[in-house]
Amino acid sequence: MTVRTRFAPSPTGFIHLGNIRSALYPWAFAKSQDGVFILRIEDTDVERSSQEAVDVILEGMQWLGLNPDEGPFYQMQRMDRYKEVLEQLRAQGWVYPCYMSVAELDALRERQMAAKLKPRYDGTWRPEPGKTLPAIPEGVKPVWRFKTPLGGSVVWDDKVKGRIEVANAELDDLVIARPDGTPTYNFCVVVDDIDMAITHVIRGDDHVNNTPRQIHIFQALGRAHPVYAHLPTVLNEQGEKMSKRNGAKAVTQYCTEGYLPDAMVNYLARLGWSHGDDEIFSREQFLSWFDLDHLGKSAAQFDEAKLKWVNAQHLKACTGDALAQMVKPWLEPQALDGDPARLAARCDLFKDRCDTLCVLADWLNRMAGPVQPSAADLAQHVTDAVKPALAEFAQSLQTVEWSAAAIAAGIKTVLQAHQLKMPQLAMPVRVLVLGTPQTPSLDQVLALSDRDRVVGLIRAGL
Ligand code: GLU
Repeated sequence: MTVRTRFAPSPTGFIHLGNIRSALYPWAFAKSQDGVFILRIEDTDVERSSQEAVDVILEGMQWLGLNPDEGPFYQMQRMDRYKEVLEQLRAQGWVYPCYMSVAELDALRERQMAAKLKPRYDGTWRPEPGKTLPAIPEGVKPVWRFKTPLGGSVVWDDKVKGRIEVANAELDDLVIARPDGTPTYNFCVVVDDIDMAITHVIRGDDHVNNTPRQIHIFQALGRAHPVYAHLPTVLNEQGEKMSKRNGAKAVTQYCTEGYLPDAMVNYLARLGWSHGDDEIFSREQFLSWFDLDHLGKSAAQFDEAKLKWVNAQHLKACTGDALAQMVKPWLEPQALDGDPARLAARCDLFKDRCDTLCVLADWLNRMAGPVQPSAADLAQHVTDAVKPALAEFAQSLQTVEWSAAAIAAGIKTVLQAHQLKMPQLAMPVRVLVLGTPQTPSLDQVLALSDRDRVVGLIRAGL
């Protein structure tokens, strides 16, 4: 059997980290099993769906490398198929027309609530042998309801939650088509899961209540239902369900903020799944380790500081060459050094101090563009007492061999001549050349800088 999984987002808001985790696991499971990963856009809520939200889904998945093997399929383009299957259910007697008006339904609900009963459709229009149905009202188009089995229960072995059993008495007869014939959500999902031959449904546990209803529809259509794994919610830092309403960012925002796709995959993977104590792993390791048996049972909480830490670890592990490619979108034109080897070497030099590509870009831009030291740093470090030594250092830099070792030797000579300690010279040079006193080793910074620029910046500061 080929494993076939799907991610089935509704494009009704910008997809956030909590949502995209529901793409990561089915993707990883399919990949780890040599299976097929399918993307299905559930856009039947026409009022709330938007192209912008679809774009964020597609861009976010592409950025993270969660590429579907099939799709994207759009439910709105499959309406004819849903109607065809509805026809089949109708012919087999699984659905029936219900003429209960909204006002009648409301009144029914009120009566049930007053009697402390669970509000549910009471089966008024459900045909049964020997039962006389009410007279069909004039000019009313019916909804179509699914005949939920009356006795017994639905049971499935959820890969995350274990055995779940729901008594059929708890479920009323679900509307599966509206008066205009358009199918409803639970019905479309089942038709799609059948047509797309989905073997494993891995989705958020907000769908647990839909599952028994969906299983009934599978059974009515004579099909075995897929394996289900319902993932616990992702909470935000305040412990609330992550949602756009309470500040969750669109996935693509993390791209803009300089996170690495592999770090995001790593972080999201750990948000509800574990492999021993491993915290930092590559995409390949994740795929070789992923299974449904180690999905967490309790809600995971988003932690931006941890995400940054994971990102920093991945950034550090990248080669300078790789970083030079990745950081390009954030670089000012002058920082796109003509010499790729030097740009890569700069990335290597600064990467340990960076937790995002934006921070790395900031260093690279400082290496090439204008620098703006703060007045406080200038006053503290570029003192009159040190200016003669700075002038001599600038002079020596004009002719020194441009290597870290030769520059280091030049620094020593000036220190000795002026009876200074290293920081007394190094700090003002850093402030003038990079705009901050905190930088990697000065000789290395200078060796990877442009000679004329360095000399010019020191002289301008005197
Ligand atoms: N469209 C649903 C959602 O975005 C997911 C449906 C499913 O995975 O079965 O929540």
